Amino acid sequence: MSAADLVQRWVRPEIRSLDAYSVQEASGLIKLDAMENPYGWPDSLRRRWLERLKGVSVNRYPDPAGRELVAVLRRVMEIPEEMEVLLGNGSDEIIQILALALNGPVLSVEPGFVMYAMIARFVGRPYVGVPLRRDFSLDLPALLEAVERHRPALVFLARPNNPTGNLFDAAEVERVIAAAPGLVVIDEAYSPFTEATFMRRLGEFPNLVVMRTLSKLGLAGLRLGYLAGSPEWLDEFHKVRLPYNVNVLSQVTAAFALDEGAAALAEQTAAIRSERTRLFAALEEIAGLEPFPSEANFILVRTAPGRAEELFEALKEGGVLVKKLHGSHSLLSDCLRLTVGTPEENDRLLELLRRAG
Ligand SMILES: *Cc1c(COP(=O)(O)O)cnc(C)c1O
Repeated sequence: MSAADLVQRWVRPEIRSLDAYSVQEASGLIKLDAMENPYGWPDSLRRRWLERLKGVSVNRYPDPAGRELVAVLRRVMEIPEEMEVLLGNGSDEIIQILALALNGPVLSVEPGFVMYAMIARFVGRPYVGVPLRRDFSLDLPALLEAVERHRPALVFLARPNNPTGNLFDAAEVERVIAAAPGLVVIDEAYSPFTEATFMRRLGEFPNLVVMRTLSKLGLAGLRLGYLAGSPEWLDEFHKVRLPYNVNVLSQVTAAFALDEGAAALAEQTAAIRSERTRLFAALEEIAGLEPFPSEANFILVRTAPGRAEELFEALKEGGVLVKKLHGSHSLLSDCLRLTVGTPEENDRLLELLRRAG
């Protein structure tokens, strides 16, 4: 038997039919495709960090619960005292932990974050995607109907939403939380770029948890996500979490960055927020482009009909990599997603878009 025959025989069909999560080759290009923070650390901070790492015992297993880091997160992220915290190897791992632990369908909105559907499929849970309205707001009647019909164990709502950048109306989100029979996860991956949050409201709903990540804040390379919610829920999720899921270098670095690097990170996110405003206004001035308001560190733009592919290629040719969303969902036809970069990177992006006109 060949390897291909063996795969056919033994790998679950739902895995064989999946496409692996693909990452675009970016070498030599200005990376405005993946919502990374474009700034590095000041030299003095980098030196102090390396000094801190010198003391780390890599021969020992890390603290399984990451207690030191959790203490810093609690303080910096204003996690309510009575809530428990679970760390993940990126919030992607937390999505997987939740899907593994809960027994029943996973529901989210579309277009939305692709990992909810992908993880649901590979852990063998039915997935229900409810379309947003054309303006990317929640279609509340459709959503409530889908909740009633499918009785999901797990509902994911990203706020702000990726890839659309908008904030779902808080009162409508509350209606969904109230109607959902199972757990509702508010995914606040973009919390550094908005004031909106459900973190302070965790205690109001027995079926609400808040998930965040340090990736978009500026620490994507560490792979660190966290979940805040009541101990009843999180004690169960801790059982599914692999014992040492967050490595010691990530734990120490994240705690250092949130503590001693707080001022630098705050300065960087403020710069990104102000560039978001400037970039949006400049995009509005370019004929044929329609940018959508964003509370995240990226802007969704609709190009003139049929031009997304051509603009994507023109940008790449000019050295700028963005995300082409055209073709991924009917509501995203002719759309590109532009991550907010440094002022110089954004100028280059705008210059190429104007030139391609
Ligand atoms: C980027 C992103 C994540 C994943 O973050 P990681 O912590 O890097 O795995 C989760 N949710 C949304 C909505 C995102 O955009």
